[in-house]
Amino acid sequence: MLKLDGLMVSNKLRESLSENIEKWSQASGRRPGLTVILVGNDPASEVYVSHKHKACQKVGIQSEVIKLAHDTQMEQLKQTIETLNLDKQVDGILVQLPLPSHLNEREALETINPKKDPDALTIENIGLFFGGEGRVKSCTPNGVMEILKYYDIPLSGKKAVVIGRSKIVGLPMFNLLQQANCTVTLCHSRTADLKEHTLEADIVVVAAGKPEFLGKDDFKKGAVIIDVGIHRKQVDGKNKLVGDVRYDELEGWASAATPVPKGVGPMTITMLLKNTFDLARDQG
Ligand code: NAD
Repeated sequence: MLKLDGLMVSNKLRESLSENIEKWSQASGRRPGLTVILVGNDPASEVYVSHKHKACQKVGIQSEVIKLAHDTQMEQLKQTIETLNLDKQVDGILVQLPLPSHLNEREALETINPKKDPDALTIENIGLFFGGEGRVKSCTPNGVMEILKYYDIPLSGKKAVVIGRSKIVGLPMFNLLQQANCTVTLCHSRTADLKEHTLEADIVVVAAGKPEFLGKDDFKKGAVIIDVGIHRKQVDGKNKLVGDVRYDELEGWASAATPVPKGVGPMTITMLLKNTFDLARDQG
């Protein structure tokens, strides 16, 4: 079985991104800029934001984190976003989700200028993306496509199954695979017989958010398995990361699969960096 090494692909992409950013910055006299707004102090969000900040610095993107108190009101959040919309040094604005429950996520996201939306979460960008004309593509699903591309996995005419229909993973994944000429089936928690679909598939992307819930018996021999799930599990008193798939069972059965960790995970931030740079180039 071919191990689809997302960490290696991600490192290669970041290296070439970093070179391209350097050239662009010398020519334009400025660096691409990403500002992340973090409201409150959710520990998981703080970790994600710090990873993004460090990743930006490594590839030469100017990164700023604006921390707002948990009790920030909608008007103040919108004003912060509007100020960034007007700032020519800022190419990407990211509102770290989830927001505290008193704030309206959709209203916050719609305040972002769609030309500065590297997560492709504004209604305008979702529309463009689903119409095949997106200025940027959703980060995690696009990361999956980059892994498939790097390993030359044939897609056209293949049967793909996506498990999960979230707005950030399952739905955009469905869209990218159909754009790549796969015949795609989207499965979710109300799918009557999941195995009936997965056993038919050449490619299965699993994003159900259920730790280790699928194994060898759920897949056709020779299938390509992409595991988007990330879960923390205690093994012998130590924290271990696992996916939605029991990876160890796939050896000798699947033709290729992403491990967890070091599979899809590192690609999400890489695609965020790429999107920020693409938006900076569009702004000039
Ligand atoms: P979500 O909870 O929003 O969506 C899960 C989806 O799975 C739902 O659409 C649901 O219908 C479907 N589902 C749940 N149980 C199912 C079942 N038994 N059979 C079929 N479908 C089922 O989750 P999400 O935000 O899409 O994330 C999914 C997983 O991917 C999580 O583990 C999350 O941590 C991980 N994730 C990883 C990255 C990354 O960078 N690698 C990014 C985002 C999410």
